[in-house]
Amino acid sequence: MENKKDDVLLMKDKEYLWHSMKAYSPDTTMVVEKAKGAWVVDQNGKRYLDAMAGLWCVNVGYGRKELAEAAYEQLKNMAYFPLTQSHRPAIELAEKLNKMLGEDYVIFFSNSGSEANETAFKIVRQYHQQKGDVNRYKFISRYRGYHGNSMGALAATGQAQRKYKYEPLSPGFIHVAPPDLYRSSDEKEANPEELQSVKDIDNVMTWELSETMAGVIMEPIITGGGILIPPEKYMKGVKQVCEKHGALLIVDEVICGFGRTGEPFGFMNYGVKPDVITMAKGITSAYLPLSATAVKKEVYEAFKGTEEYDYFRHINTFGGNPAACALAIKNIEIMENENLFFRSKTMGAYLKNGLVEALRDHPLVGDIRGKGLLLGIELVSDRKSKSPLNVESLNQVIAGCKQKGILIGKNGATVAGYNNVLSLSPPLIINKEEVDLLIKIVSEEIGRLIGK
Ligand code: PMP
Repeated sequence: MENKKDDVLLMKDKEYLWHSMKAYSPDTTMVVEKAKGAWVVDQNGKRYLDAMAGLWCVNVGYGRKELAEAAYEQLKNMAYFPLTQSHRPAIELAEKLNKMLGEDYVIFFSNSGSEANETAFKIVRQYHQQKGDVNRYKFISRYRGYHGNSMGALAATGQAQRKYKYEPLSPGFIHVAPPDLYRSSDEKEANPEELQSVKDIDNVMTWELSETMAGVIMEPIITGGGILIPPEKYMKGVKQVCEKHGALLIVDEVICGFGRTGEPFGFMNYGVKPDVITMAKGITSAYLPLSATAVKKEVYEAFKGTEEYDYFRHINTFGGNPAACALAIKNIEIMENENLFFRSKTMGAYLKNGLVEALRDHPLVGDIRGKGLLLGIELVSDRKSKSPLNVESLNQVIAGCKQKGILIGKNGATVAGYNNVLSLSPPLIINKEEVDLLIKIVSEEIGRLIGK
């Protein structure tokens, strides 16, 4: 349905609101007024199946009354106190997260994924200082990875299109290429030391001088950069290289955490225990802002001295807001009671199989990949060259899906022309009928690219 030209709300939107990312477009802007389950409703009353869960974040689905109530009860009882001291919801949530992570972690709360990563960088740099290793400041991250919008998190990000207008960013970040199994499928089960992408990190650490390396930051699966599922032993290899050079491994679970990949956290697919884990989005299913930086106890121990030098000199006014923490506890309870991590795994497999089945012979579909309810469909101009399909074609598919009431995303790396991956990341409560609808509409719209 076209937006009405004289829609007052849209006119005010145009006048007063600065949107994330998009140029203003009166024809396509949705004013979402209501949402329930996996569905949102716009200002014209049109319903959409939200196959991106907002921005990969509404994991338990929309309209959960018990989450609103948890926040309301907490706000009535005690709305705020800073975490320079303490409060019950933060303590209980930290205890819960530690348990989910397999024990051994302390938790620092912030409000967004970017802040959680900034916090991680500062903790890791200071950790080395505390240990007397004063030259360790450099971080390695991967091209195509995304870590946030602030100057450090953006410096870590490996997507030049998001960065070049804001440079210089924080110094000390070095990028390496991530593995791309679609273009090197023989690496799927290779041993860590055989992986070129692991060797690259090892080499960079050597040439940059081991004793200057603070850490590596990585998403378990590159998400916004094009849903790149790594070889099974890649993360293990990165951890080994970190240990060899005395650097710490930070895993960014901002999207992959809280069931998105079919496990409570993405790293759990790969048998590695990271030194630092950052999380946001799914922690509250985005009902309220909250993020966390989980830090291994042995790292935390280095900050435990009583001298002023030993403090972590980092303060966050809103971080760990009591209502957000109370809501997060309830949110995790829902995930556990409804078995949503497992559901993500099984529904994700069902969705992937359905798409593979429907698109098997489509010449522009290069790869369909995913873990849990995190899926990418890589479109190519031909299957032999694997060259990325033009972005206009992807936009056409996305617009066609929207027309038919399905919201999907597009990801990759604009600069190199690799903005060619359609992304699906629906709420983990999505049911079989909704998945069937998703498969039907998405494959129909991709089919239309070749007149099918
Ligand atoms: N890390 C990853 C992997 C993300 O996808 C994002 C946001 N999409 C962030 C960090 C930054 O989170 P935020 O937008 O909450 O700052």
